[in-house]
Amino acid sequence: MDAQSFREFGKAAIDYLADYLENVRDKQVLPNVEPGYMRKLLPEEAPEEPEDWREVLKDMDRAIMPGLTHWHSPHFHAFYPTANSYPGIVGEMMSAGLGTIGFTWMSSPASTELEVITLDWLGKMIGLPPQFLSCSPGYGGGVLQGSASEATLLCLLVARERYVQRLHEKNPSLTEQELRATKAKLVAYASDQSNSSVEKAGILGSVPMRLIPADEKFQMSGSNLRAAIEADLKEGLVPCIVISTLGTTPTCANDPLREIAAVCSEFGIWHHVDAAYSGAALICPEYRYICEGIELADSFNFNPHKWMLVNFDCSALWVKDSRELVAAMSVDRAYLVHTQQDAGMPDYRNWQIPLGRRFRALKLWFVLRIYGVKKLQEYIRAQCKLATDFEMLLRGDDRFEIFTPAHMGLVTFRLKGPNENTNKLMANLQKSKKIYVVGAEVGGKAMIRFAICSRFTTFSDVEFAWNEMVNQTDKVFLTLPENATNGHF
Ligand SMILES: *Cc1c(COP(=O)(O)O)cnc(C)c1O
Repeated sequence: MDAQSFREFGKAAIDYLADYLENVRDKQVLPNVEPGYMRKLLPEEAPEEPEDWREVLKDMDRAIMPGLTHWHSPHFHAFYPTANSYPGIVGEMMSAGLGTIGFTWMSSPASTELEVITLDWLGKMIGLPPQFLSCSPGYGGGVLQGSASEATLLCLLVARERYVQRLHEKNPSLTEQELRATKAKLVAYASDQSNSSVEKAGILGSVPMRLIPADEKFQMSGSNLRAAIEADLKEGLVPCIVISTLGTTPTCANDPLREIAAVCSEFGIWHHVDAAYSGAALICPEYRYICEGIELADSFNFNPHKWMLVNFDCSALWVKDSRELVAAMSVDRAYLVHTQQDAGMPDYRNWQIPLGRRFRALKLWFVLRIYGVKKLQEYIRAQCKLATDFEMLLRGDDRFEIFTPAHMGLVTFRLKGPNENTNKLMANLQKSKKIYVVGAEVGGKAMIRFAICSRFTTFSDVEFAWNEMVNQTDKVFLTLPENATNGHF
């Protein structure tokens, strides 16, 4: 493909996406395809001869569209949002077009420097204490990771190395093998409401993850955490890292950071805060109460790629002492050495697991500038309001009970009575595919999560979802003779 065709293809693609997003409301949010549908539509071999881009673009409609779940449909209320915005999309395109790999400062100075600056901007926007910022004295700083999962794994690995380092300093005579053997005694802690990626980090890092039973508010309390730590210490195990969550996946609960931090500092444990979804709300000062005590944490992560309009992938991680990251993650090779290494700019390869890294800061910069802090705050507030609106609708129908009230953009609820009712409602909703929600079972109770996800969602879409909820609930309680016999729909 030459540059001229690229111009045409690229412009046609932008038109395609603008049409798609403008009309996404009218598409059924969930597709009708069956597993394996695409095999019937595509050839068995890659084409031998070049094809025209117009043919490829046509196949977007024929083969891809029918199998898409429309994450940006205003009727998408499952999981949590994934960000999408015009400035974010263009930022992605720019990053692909420039195609730099910024693993050291020298490998592309602009990509490192823009990342340092935008992460300071973002850190200030969410009220992060100065110890986490690179513009303040000390060793704090931010870095973009691909995902919250990577950020958690990274911090777990760094905490593990920090422990080995400290042990070595205290006992310089220990051999490499002896140091390695003690790693087998490390343990990590998180709430049983934490994201699956937290448990996975423990598996990947070979540090067993104790999932602390959450209390009645779905929070990990300091006392439950302490009890688990003390039991492990008695067994001769070594607590290494605690992962707190702000905005748990099932119910958007917040762990009490200050209480947990007190336990962590008492036992010298790394405290990582996973605020993947909720962190974006911290740009609104009225939500900062959830991160009370954050100044005591070692690391903090949230995903602008979830609720802050920066397209996936863009996960912001800040640490208080970047030297610990570098100590755990740096491997030196002659070809990676450059003359500006000690000039105060990070070599981001030492702040992450992979070597290569995309120019992700561009899309963050585009979104921050083209929306501005005010519009982003308005966006978060409007989404929270819609969740509250849905809660009000639920409260007006006494067949429903609120499981957890609207918090951020999430409200969870159930049908009164046995779990069977709620499960039937979920099954009806999945079958009709007018809206997309997911259910969960928490504390033995079946519930449905309703999250405001799309940036296109308005109050009338919330009403649309409510009407669908009412219709499908009517069917649950219909006692037609055929239903009485087979018991389900
Ligand atoms: C979504 C989410 C994650 C996983 O985020 P990725 O960026 O997809 O890895 C982790 N923790 C919480 C609390 C989340 O909401």
